[in-house]
Amino acid sequence: MYDEFKQLMQTELTEIGISLDDKQIGQFYQYYELLMEWNKVMNLTTITEWEDVVTKHMVDSLSLIKAIPELSTSQASVMDLGTGAGFPGIPLKIAFPGLHITMLDSLNKKVNFLKEVMKQLELENITAIHGRAEDYGREKKYREQYDYCVSRAVANLSTLAEYCMPYVKIGGMFISYKSGKMEEELAQAKGAIKLLGGKTEQVIAFTLPGGDAERSLICIHKLESTSKLYPRKAGLPGKEPLK
Ligand code: SAH
Repeated sequence: MYDEFKQLMQTELTEIGISLDDKQIGQFYQYYELLMEWNKVMNLTTITEWEDVVTKHMVDSLSLIKAIPELSTSQASVMDLGTGAGFPGIPLKIAFPGLHITMLDSLNKKVNFLKEVMKQLELENITAIHGRAEDYGREKKYREQYDYCVSRAVANLSTLAEYCMPYVKIGGMFISYKSGKMEEELAQAKGAIKLLGGKTEQVIAFTLPGGDAERSLICIHKLESTSKLYPRKAGLPGKEPLK
């Protein structure tokens, strides 16, 4: 099973220009095993076929390289907002160990899972914190401290921009993983993005290796500091997205 896992990872990662050594592939396999073990007792993922975990979770997370080609040598700071079972934060750390990663989630049991993964895989310069995006985003220790804030499958783009933009340094980028069709969502979020100090720079659309999932990475450059008015109090960005 490990050999097949290794082969699929290598084949798919070659397609997006990433090559990993045996230690890294071993870490991905360990992560897969922990995910399946903990998934028996808590809700971490509905994707459980190993081939799907490889493509739809692991390789998908690493497709960020299409937006940031220098990732493999980068020492950038990255906030992964609403990380869940660790996507994309854990795959990014395994593949690009120079990154400094913070993973945030509002469910403590997921944060406990992540702590176990970080320990077992002996990952460094990565932390998992428990709480809401709207609360940490107002704290000095986190506000405008990150080169990148990334987020996958957490909220609509307008809500997500209010969650994410406060974390990004001026000159940094907020990158949202979205499915293929996102034009309408992007059009609706334009006002919010501008209000929060951002500008849509680029949408990178592609098909994931394996061929059956469309992916868009929406890259928003932060040009100006985010007003102290944002994020609004917990719950509001979701309930009444900025227009
Ligand atoms: N990024 C992961 C998980 C997506 S599920 C993946 O792609 O697989 C969305 C996650 O975001 C959940 O774990 C949920 O607890 C978290 N979340 C939703 N709203 C949040 C908020 N306001 N602050 C922090 N975490 C949040």
